Amino acid sequence: MIVNCPTCQADVEWSENSPNRPFCSKKCQLIDLGEWATEDRTIAGEKSASDTPENMPDIEDIEAMLSQQAGDFFKH
Ligand SMILES: [Zn+2]
Repeated sequence: MIVNCPTCQADVEWSENSPNRPFCSKKCQLIDLGEWATEDRTIAGEKSASDTPENMPDIEDIEAMLSQQAGDFFKH
């Protein structure tokens, strides 16, 4: 069975000949781990960056909810 190295896409034999499988080498394994750490930071950064556009419809929802609640309040 042949798999592709997640880092460099090289063909890696899924056997004891490839101790770093699914990576082709220890180096690719370390690169992938490093990218994971980088990805975490990127995702965290993207979250705060995407807060503004995500909040746009949310504010409308809250406003709709508030006007609905105000209507309920005046009914009581
Ligand atoms: Zn590789």
